[in-house]
Amino acid sequence: MIKVFTTREDFTNYKFGLAHDSIGIIPTMGNLHLGHLSLLKQSLADNTVSVITIFVNPKQFGPNEDFDKYPRTLDEDLAKISNLALHSDLSSNDKKEIIVFAPRNNDEIYPTGFNTIISVKQLTQKLEGKFRPDHFDGVTTVVYRLFKIIGAKNAYFGQKDFQQCIVIKKMIFDLELDIKLNILPIVRNTEGLALSSRNQFLTTEERMAALHLSKTLKQIEMLIKNKEDYKPIIANELNNNKWDYLEVLNAENLEEPNQQTSKLVVIGAFKLGVIRLLDNILVQTV
Ligand code: AMP
Repeated sequence: MIKVFTTREDFTNYKFGLAHDSIGIIPTMGNLHLGHLSLLKQSLADNTVSVITIFVNPKQFGPNEDFDKYPRTLDEDLAKISNLALHSDLSSNDKKEIIVFAPRNNDEIYPTGFNTIISVKQLTQKLEGKFRPDHFDGVTTVVYRLFKIIGAKNAYFGQKDFQQCIVIKKMIFDLELDIKLNILPIVRNTEGLALSSRNQFLTTEERMAALHLSKTLKQIEMLIKNKEDYKPIIANELNNNKWDYLEVLNAENLEEPNQQTSKLVVIGAFKLGVIRLLDNILVQTV
């Protein structure tokens, strides 16, 4: 069964019948693809009620970014969710439920006069934070709001936005939020490009050039696994001004790794025209 709510009030009235322990939340900005749907599938497996939120959050876009142009495709998104529900055999299992929370305007999330920002320090200054100064404040503020409104026990995020996951993990820890963060693997196309709502804006040539991102990360992963030096490759790649950054960091906290670090993340951001593509690979070293 799928229910769609567009106001906080309607959702909250309905929520009173739901147990906190039974709810999973999947925050998205819509324009759904198989990456988003993989999160929903996992939530369906883990929870009785899965709430997928669809909200293009103005607070996480910088003044010169693509907020106005961000694809808003609610009808298609609902069709994709219905299709998934059909194939997950939800209809034969009355106990499982999908709720779509698609706030009809910003006031549903930020009522008039809303004047609070949730801001995780330090972690948000590096990588993406250097190029998108207020981005993570917008992310943590909306995610906190959504956690509060939905009241879920489980939250599902994609490893694709790895720094975002680590920032949210820190917010949950610092604010002692009663929610479990589940980070799911990156869904890629057959050529290795991580699915992203922004890929549709790439020209055919840019799409080919984009493969350099995942290929370079893979190359560094192989060097790490073979215990070879990856630093020359990084230095060489960074001569190409298409990279905003390309780094190997401790995957737990995004700090510089040392000999003891057992889990690394190879993480990069690559520019193609006006589009920035993010990707990363996790590497276990022991
Ligand atoms: P967005 O709508 O771009 O804010 O993404 C919503 C959620 O989907 C975030 O947790 C993303 O990390 C996740 N996501 C986006 N792309 C992918 C992908 N290719 N594979 C897995 N998860 C993804």
